[in-house]
Amino acid sequence: MVRFARCNALLSLALDASGKGCRYVAKGASDDDVVKEMSEHLTAVHQVDAGIMKANILASTKTNNG
Ligand SMILES: [Zn+2]
Repeated sequence: MVRFARCNALLSLALDASGKGCRYVAKGASDDDVVKEMSEHLTAVHQVDAGIMKANILASTKTNNG
């Protein structure tokens, strides 16, 4: 069982480094892992303060049973 969150669910207008809609997906075994991965991505790629995004990340984190 994998927990995951999509960047474009958090930042609907997010663009990746080449100007396309961001398709980044953070995955982890726990919500904490997903928050950590997504926080690093948001900071590095979108220059977003991940601290204020934590609740949003958790709210959009889902379970992948596949
Ligand atoms: Zn992104």
